[in-house]
Amino acid sequence: MLKKKLTGILLFLIFLSIIQSTFSQSKNSFTVVYNNLSFETDLQSDWGFAAWIEIGKKVILFDTGTKSKILQQNLKKLKFNPEVVSAIVISHEHYDHTGGLETMLEKVQPGTHVYLPNNFDEKLLTKFENLIFEFNEGFAKIADNIWVSNLFQNMENRILEQALIIEKNNEIIVITGCAHPGIVEMCTKIKEYFPRKKIELVTGGFHLRGMSVNKVKEISDQLKLLAIEKVAPSHCTGQQSIDVFKEEWKDNYVTLNLGDSYKF
Ligand SMILES: [Zn+2]
Ligand SMILES: [Zn+2]
Repeated sequence: MLKKKLTGILLFLIFLSIIQSTFSQSKNSFTVVYNNLSFETDLQSDWGFAAWIEIGKKVILFDTGTKSKILQQNLKKLKFNPEVVSAIVISHEHYDHTGGLETMLEKVQPGTHVYLPNNFDEKLLTKFENLIFEFNEGFAKIADNIWVSNLFQNMENRILEQALIIEKNNEIIVITGCAHPGIVEMCTKIKEYFPRKKIELVTGGFHLRGMSVNKVKEISDQLKLLAIEKVAPSHCTGQQSIDVFKEEWKDNYVTLNLGDSYKF
């Protein structure tokens, strides 16, 4: 009788832990809140990029699109409250990633951390004395399981850019703004920094517009050599290049355009 009771309790506890782990897994997600690529969504598409990341109790906004009005409208439609953002990360100083920054800085709580590329024009920041602006070099951990990458320098056009990295037990997820320094170069450096982790997904702008199909195939092969599991190229990747990735990656091609979410 006692044995039966204990087995019952044990089964119940196992059931509870399964429910709990499923729940905690599905709580973490990111959603594309600004993008020129969209498919039948209520949200307004426009040239630019921004992603809303929810991890544990933290909310991180990566980039801010071109127009603050559109960013704020999209956030409102998604029921995302800008006042709960605990950190803002800007990938690089291009208008289509920084346009909504000023309004966001006005809305976030005092003490919010804002991570910017080293060469960011500080003029805009001086009026926000109660926020903490950080200019990192190398890899920096900005919250539990969240990193920003090195400021990769593109020698041709001198654009400094940082990616956002979500760390899981055995995998990482990489979100890029435009990948001006080169998507392969960025992923290679990130992989070197996390040698024991598999890259589960790379998403964001891959900056491959106007590139020949053969060259894009070459880049796609190089990403496969880095043992990247899935890709979701968007924003400035270019439609022709996106089609190449669809063809090359088949089931491991993921669509993450405006309004799309990814759970992790
Ligand atoms: Zn750019
Ligand atoms: Zn861009």
